[in-house]
Amino acid sequence: MSAGLERAIHVLKEVIDTPIASYLNSCVHCGLCAEACLFHTETGNPRYAPIYKLEPLRRVYRQEYTLVGRISRALGLSKPITDDDLAQWQELVYDTCTMCGRCSLVCPMGIDLVYMIRRLREGMAIAGHAPQGVIEATKRTIATGSPMGVRLPALKVQIAHIQLETGLDVPLDKVGAEYMLVLSSMEIINFPEFMVSIAKIMLRAGKTWTLCSEAFEATNSGVQIGVSDIARLIVSRIVQGAEKLKVKTVISPECGHAFTALRWEGPNLIGRPYTFKVQHILEVLDEFCSQGLLKLKPPEKDRYTFHDPCQIVRMGGVLEPQRNLIKLLVADYVPMPNTGKYNWCCGGGGGVSANEDTKELRLIAFKRKKTQLEATKSKRLITACANCRVNLEEGIEYYRMDTTLFSLTELVADNLLN
Ligand code: SF4
Ligand code: SF4
Repeated sequence: MSAGLERAIHVLKEVIDTPIASYLNSCVHCGLCAEACLFHTETGNPRYAPIYKLEPLRRVYRQEYTLVGRISRALGLSKPITDDDLAQWQELVYDTCTMCGRCSLVCPMGIDLVYMIRRLREGMAIAGHAPQGVIEATKRTIATGSPMGVRLPALKVQIAHIQLETGLDVPLDKVGAEYMLVLSSMEIINFPEFMVSIAKIMLRAGKTWTLCSEAFEATNSGVQIGVSDIARLIVSRIVQGAEKLKVKTVISPECGHAFTALRWEGPNLIGRPYTFKVQHILEVLDEFCSQGLLKLKPPEKDRYTFHDPCQIVRMGGVLEPQRNLIKLLVADYVPMPNTGKYNWCCGGGGGVSANEDTKELRLIAFKRKKTQLEATKSKRLITACANCRVNLEEGIEYYRMDTTLFSLTELVADNLLN
C-alpha cells in the first residue's frame, strides 16, 4: 500500500464521524438524490448519482467499522480500497459535483450528501487524487492569496484605473471604516465594474468602506479542494485583516462559496466567533434600499429572470434580499421553474470550473439551465456570483442563446437615481 493511500484511508477513517456513520446507515436507495443532480439528469450516467459518488467512503466505513465488513475483509470476501479506485473516483468526487446541495435538500432521510463529499475530498486530496487545476489554484492561493495569482500590485493597478476613469474613491486599508469588502479574483480581473458599482453605492449611501491589502481575496480554494487546514488559513487572513482595520462588517462579494466559507464555516474553522459581522453584498444592498439610503429609477419594463447561486441561496440562506431588489428594479420578472432554494446549479461551482478537463461535461450539464431559461421566455438573466457568471456566459455562448447577463449589484449601481 502506497504511503499516500495509507494516509488517505487513515483520513477517511478519521472523517467518518457520527453523522456520516448514521447517514451511511440510513440510505434507503430511493434514488431521489440522483434525480436532483444535474450531472446525472443531463447525462443519464448512473455513476453520477450522488450516493454512488460516496462509494469509497461507504466501503471504508463498512470494512473498518462494521463487524460484517471486518469479517468479510479478513476472509478476503471484500476488496480493500486501492489507489486505482481513488483515481477512478476523482472524476466523480471533483468533476461531477459542484457541491450545490440539491441532493441533500431532497433526500427524504435527511442525508447531507454534500457534507460527505467534502469529507471524501479531504481524503482524496491527501492521497493525491485531486484535479491538477484545483491543486494549482490552491497552491496559488497559499502563495499569493489568490487562486488566479492576483497579487496586490494588480489590485492597485485596477484601483488606480477606476479612480482615474470614474473619479470615484476606492479606499485601501482605511482603519475604522464601517465596511470591508473582499473580492473574488474574477471580479478584480474580469469584472472590475463590480468595484466601480460598490464605490458608487457606498458614496450614495453615505457609508465608509475599504479594501484590505492583506486580505482582499474572498475565494476559498481550501473549501473547494476539501482541505480544512487551507480553508482555515484563508479565512484567518480575512479575520486578521478585518480586525486590524477595526471594521464592523465584512462584505462577501458576488461569489457563492466565499460567502458560505466565511459566514457559516469560518468561525468553526478558526475556533472562535468573529468580532465583526459578515453580510453578503445582496443583504447590504437590500438593507440600504429598505432604509431609504439608495433611491432607484422606476423599474425597467423588459422581461428579466434570475439565476439563484446555490451557495448563496440553498447553502447560504440568503433568499429574500435578491427578490426585494429585483422587485425594485424590474417590472416584468419571471422566476425560473425550480427557483430559490430548488434552483439548479450553473454547473461550474465547487471548483468544477477551475478544472479545464470538465469543460465538455459542464456544457452538457448546462442544458438544464438552458431549459430553465427558455421556460421564462426572457432574454435578460441576472445573477449574483462571478463564478456562475463565467459559467453561464460559457454556456450561453456555446448554445448561441440570445441572452444578456447582468450582475445584480451592477444593476443596482446603474439604476441609482441621480
Ligand atoms: S435520496 Fe437519500 S435515501 Fe435516497 S438514495 Fe439518495 S442518499 Fe439514499
Ligand atoms: S451537491 Fe449538487 S452536483 Fe454534487 S452530487 Fe449533489 S446534486 Fe450533484
